[in-house]
Amino acid sequence: MNVAARHILIVGAGHAGGVAAATLRQTGFTGAITLIGGEAHPPYERPPLSKELLAGAIPVEKTYLRPLAFYTENGIAFRPGETAVAIDRAAQRVELANGDTVPYDALLLTLGARARRLALPGADHPRVLYLRDIVDSLALREHLNTGARIAVIGAGFIGLEAAAVARKHGAAVTVLEVQREPLQRVCAPEIGRFMATLHRRNGVNLRTGVAVVAIEEKGGALEIRTADGETVAADIVLAGIGAQPNVELAHAAGLAVEDGIVTDEFGRTSDPNVFAAGDVTRHFNPLLGRKLRLEAWQNAQNQAMAVAKVMAGGDRPHAEVPWFWTDQYDVNLQIAGAPKRWDDLVWRGGPDDKAFTVFAMQDGKPVAATTMNNGREMRPAREMIARGRAVDPARLADAKVKLQDLARET
Ligand SMILES: Cc1cc2nc3c(=O)[nH]c(=O)nc-3n(C[C@H](O)[C@H](O)[C@H](O)COP(=O)(O)OP(=O)(O)OC[C@H]3O[C@@H](n4cnc5c(N)ncnc54)[C@H](O)[C@@H]3O)c2cc1C
Repeated sequence: MNVAARHILIVGAGHAGGVAAATLRQTGFTGAITLIGGEAHPPYERPPLSKELLAGAIPVEKTYLRPLAFYTENGIAFRPGETAVAIDRAAQRVELANGDTVPYDALLLTLGARARRLALPGADHPRVLYLRDIVDSLALREHLNTGARIAVIGAGFIGLEAAAVARKHGAAVTVLEVQREPLQRVCAPEIGRFMATLHRRNGVNLRTGVAVVAIEEKGGALEIRTADGETVAADIVLAGIGAQPNVELAHAAGLAVEDGIVTDEFGRTSDPNVFAAGDVTRHFNPLLGRKLRLEAWQNAQNQAMAVAKVMAGGDRPHAEVPWFWTDQYDVNLQIAGAPKRWDDLVWRGGPDDKAFTVFAMQDGKPVAATTMNNGREMRPAREMIARGRAVDPARLADAKVKLQDLARET
């Protein structure tokens, strides 16, 4: 902890960086704060990028965490459009691409993640798009017209959310997924199948177990070739094949890095003057008893807040059940927990109901939950997961038993 820090430098002005800067001021930190970000915009929230912003339903400014003036008004030296290229930990300073160096007493790395790139012939075609930032979202939006043919590679959250928006705009959408079910990394297979049905019902040509091997331009169209010899014609391709954390700076500076910058539950890295928060961290979660990396709004928001408070002199760890949501068509899906396996399921309602909740159990205890249009059960579900006590599966499955009551009892 660096209570004596006079100048806190935050590198990465995304969600976590913006929240951390504001939290430092809210907790009474009076030293200097510099916030450096590679993008042109002030810190913003990314969830609308594949939903409302992509659909053209909100202006760009609506995604901002706070208006630009907030940073000046709160004595935060915000430097947009500047990229850090090296950290000199011995001299306690960061070098920027424009040649400047910025000294620090304490450094917070909120570098986020970037879209994983396709590695196959033709992937560098200009109509192969990704979706990570505002520029990407606005570029993709240009193509979402009636009759446009869009091929989405990867049935993860971002690919599926974009597919839903594209369908609403009348585009013809094909989704190609290499796994047997969508969302296999983060959900029970049953939920993946539920989402597959939802998309097919909405006119998406969703094909699973399909590996894309090449993309080629033919007569103005893009031809996507699969391992089983089939082709899909499209005007544009959206690759939604996951994200990779921006760890290179930390790695080059000799900080401990695995799949993410390694931190403890206070956001401390292997250097006592350097902290990290958000998508870029592989952090210890005391509730789960292990390290993990998350790509979620809640983590960017609450971990950044917790780490900023530690940097300002606090001593409370960040300890929460991971939580994530997605909106597709008329479905709001929320997921809590990060189990290694989704089995031993207990259902409250079922896939044919208007709303349902499903728990993943381990040794009789709920370790994860998914709600479908049933967000009011998410809070008690998270409480039960956090407490980690055994629950009677028959009562858990009984939709007549209020989950709030069950959570109070356990
Ligand atoms: C399209 C999309 C939709 C999403 N939808 C949901 C959702 O519905 N629900 C949910 O829970 N989560 C969602 N997420 C995840 C959530 O938005 C992220 O977890 C969150 O943005 C992570 O915040 P962060 O600050 O860690 O990283 P980011 O927001 O990625 O910010 C990192 C910033 O650091 C900058 N940077 C990187 N390297 C440097 C450098 N060397 N120098 C200067 N600046 C640098 C980057 O340009 C970026 O601005 C979504 C994400 C995306 C991309």
